[in-house]
Amino acid sequence: MKEKLGFIGLGNMGLPMSINLLKANYQVYGFDTNAKAMEQFRAAGGIGVETAKEVAQQCDVVMTSLPTPQVVEMVYQSEQGIIHHAKKGCLLIDFSTVNPELNDSLYKEAKALGLRYLGAPVSGGVIGAVNATLTIMVGGDKEDYESAAKIFGIVGKNSYHLGISSSVGTRIKLLNNLMIGFYTEAVAETIVLGEKMGIHADVLYEVLSNSYGQSRIYERNYVEYMKNDNYEPGFSTNLLLKDLKLAKEMADEAGVSLRIGEKLVDLYSEIAQQGYGENDMSAAYLSLKETAKI
Ligand code: NAD
Repeated sequence: MKEKLGFIGLGNMGLPMSINLLKANYQVYGFDTNAKAMEQFRAAGGIGVETAKEVAQQCDVVMTSLPTPQVVEMVYQSEQGIIHHAKKGCLLIDFSTVNPELNDSLYKEAKALGLRYLGAPVSGGVIGAVNATLTIMVGGDKEDYESAAKIFGIVGKNSYHLGISSSVGTRIKLLNNLMIGFYTEAVAETIVLGEKMGIHADVLYEVLSNSYGQSRIYERNYVEYMKNDNYEPGFSTNLLLKDLKLAKEMADEAGVSLRIGEKLVDLYSEIAQQGYGENDMSAAYLSLKETAKI
C-alpha cells in the first residue's frame, strides 16, 4: 500500500507540488492557514485538515513548504508542532529555505524522538513546481534520502543527496539565491539603462540572449514577468530578501565579506519599502524605473 503523505504550506510552491503528488495517485493530507489555498488543494483532490498536528498524526511522510524560518520553527517545534505529534518513524521533509542551524536542530530533535528528517530546499520556481522540474538539494541520512527518492522524482527533476549534514542542501540553496539576487538587480539595471538610451527591451533581450549576458534569471524575469507587465509572485521580493539575509549570516559566520552581496540586503530592503515586497522579485525593474524617470 502506498504511504500516506502530508503537505503543510500550500502556497505558490507547495500547492503545485502537492498536486503533482495527487496526480501520482497518492493520498495527500494538507494544511495551510490560508483558506483559499485549502480550497484549491481540496478541489484538486487533496484531503484538507484543520491543523498541522492532524497532518502529522495521519501521515507516514510529512512535507513542508513554508515562508520563513520562524514559521517552520513554529510548525515543527511548538507544542502543537509536527515533531511532537508525528508517528514513530515518520519521515519529515522540509522543502522551505531556512537558516542552516534550523535544519540541524530539527534533524537532531526529530532523531531524538524516533523520527527521520531531511532538509531539502528546492530551486526552479513556480514553473518548476508546476512542471515537476525542480532541483532538490538534500541533506540528511542516505537511507532516508533513498526512501524519499520516489517522491523527489514526482515533484522534481534533479535531486541530489549532498551529505549527511541536514543543512548542506540549504547552504547550497542560499548560494544559489545569492546569485539570483545579483542577477535580478543586474537585469533591472541593464534594461532600465538600455531603455533610457532608447533601446527597446525586446531588442536588448534578443541580442543579450545570444551573448554572455544571457542567464536563466534574465529569461525568467524578462519573459515571464516584465514583458507581460505581470508582477504577481512567483518568488516575492520579501522571500528573496529573507534568503539574502540568511546568505549574509552564513558568510559572516564563514568569515567571508561579500563585497556586493552585503549591499544586496540593503538594496532589496529598499525595494520592499518602496512597496514591492509582495511583488515578484522582478519588480526590482519597476523600482529602478521610478528613479530613472522613464
Ligand atoms: P508562499 O508564501 O507562496 O507560501 C507559503 C504558504 O505557507 C502560504 O500559503 C501560507 O499561507 C502558508 N503558511 C504560513 N504560515 C503557515 C502555518 N503556520 N501553517 C501552515 N501554513 C502556513 O511561499 P512560496 O513562494 O510557496 O515559498 C515557500 C518556501 O519555498 C519558502 O521558504 C521559499 O523561500 C521557498 N522557495 C520559493 C520559491 C519560489 O519561486 N516561490 C522557489 C524556491 C524556494
